[in-house]
Amino acid sequence: MASEIICLGIESTAHTFGIGIASSENGVLVDVKSVYKPPFGAGIHPREAAQHHCEEAPSVLNQALKEFSRKIDSVDAVAFSMGPGLGPALRTGATVARALATWLNKPLVPVHHAIAHIELASLLTGAKDPLVILVSGGHTTITAYADRRWRVFGETEDITLGNLLDVFARESSLPSPGGPAVESLAKKGGKFIDLPYVVKGNDVSFSGLLTAAKKKLQMNCDLKDLCHSLQEVAFSMVAETSERALAFTEKKEVLLVGGVAANERLQQMISEIACEHNASFYVVPKRYSGDCGAQIAWTALLVYRSGIEIKVEKSYVKPKWRLDQVAIPWRDE
Ligand code: AMP
Ligand code: MG
Repeated sequence: MASEIICLGIESTAHTFGIGIASSENGVLVDVKSVYKPPFGAGIHPREAAQHHCEEAPSVLNQALKEFSRKIDSVDAVAFSMGPGLGPALRTGATVARALATWLNKPLVPVHHAIAHIELASLLTGAKDPLVILVSGGHTTITAYADRRWRVFGETEDITLGNLLDVFARESSLPSPGGPAVESLAKKGGKFIDLPYVVKGNDVSFSGLLTAAKKKLQMNCDLKDLCHSLQEVAFSMVAETSERALAFTEKKEVLLVGGVAANERLQQMISEIACEHNASFYVVPKRYSGDCGAQIAWTALLVYRSGIEIKVEKSYVKPKWRLDQVAIPWRDE
C-alpha cells in the first residue's frame, strides 16, 4: 500500500477563510472556515475581506489543528488557493501558507481554486469524467477535461451567476449571501415576469438581466415573482449552454459544483438535461458546495503527488488565473 500523504490547504479567494486537511488514504479529515459577511446593503470589499481573513486566520488554524488529531509534523505539504480571486484576500491566505510551510520546512503547493471545486466534488460524488457546470460567486463555467486540461465550453461574459443573485438580493434588501434568500422567495412566487435572456454563442451574459430585474423592482413588481423569474431566466441560460456542451462532448456524466449548486431549481433543470442525454447527474454535497479549505487540501494531494510545488519566493498569487491555463497531469486520459 502506498504510504499516506497529508496536505493542509488554505482557501482565501473571496469571502471565506478556510483551512482543510486531507489524507490520500482517508479523504477529508478536517474542514474549518470563517465566512466574511459584508455590512447590510454592501458588497464584498477586497480589502475588508482581507482584513477579515487576517483577523480570523489564527482561530481557524487553531481549530483545524485541534480537530486534526495528529501532530502538525505529519502534514507533508502546505497548499494555498493561488487564484483566481480578490488580490488582497488571496495574498492573506498565501502569507499564512508561506509562513506555515517555512516554519514546518515542508513544500508549498499552489492550487487553482476552480479545479479545487471540481476535484473535491469528484471525490465526494464519484464522478469520473463529467461535463462540469461550475456556478459560484467567482465562476460561471461549463468545462470538460480533455488532453491534460479542463477545456472551457461556455462561460459568463460579465458577472457570475452567484454575483447576479447576490447583487439582486442586496438591491432587494434581502440578507447576504443572496442565493439562498432568492431561492426561498422564488419558491413562493409563480407569476412569470419577462426578463432578458442573453446567450451569445455558448456564453451567457447576466449584467443586462440584473439591470432589468432592478428596474422591475423599482416598478414595484412582486419580489417573490421577481425572484422566481430571475431564477427561471438565469438558470435556463445556464441549462441551454450546458446542454449544447453535453451534446457536443457526449460526456456520460454531468457534475454541478460551486455555491449556487445548492439551489434545488437549478439542480432540477440540470438533472433534466442530463437525463435527456442519458448522462448520470451528480451534484456536490451542500456542505462542500461553497468555498472551503477541504477543496484546497484534497486538490493539493493530487498536485503534490504529480511533483508540483512552488518556491516561497516565487509564490505570487494570480487573481486572474484561468482554469484552462492549468496543466493537469493527474487525471486519466
Ligand atoms: P462560492 O463562491 O462557491 O463560495 O459560492 C457562493 C455563492 O453561492 C454566493 O453567490 C451565494 O449566494 C450562492 N449560493 C449559496 N447557496 C445558494 C442557493 N441555495 N441558491 C443559489 N445560490 C446560492
Ligand atoms: Mg469558489
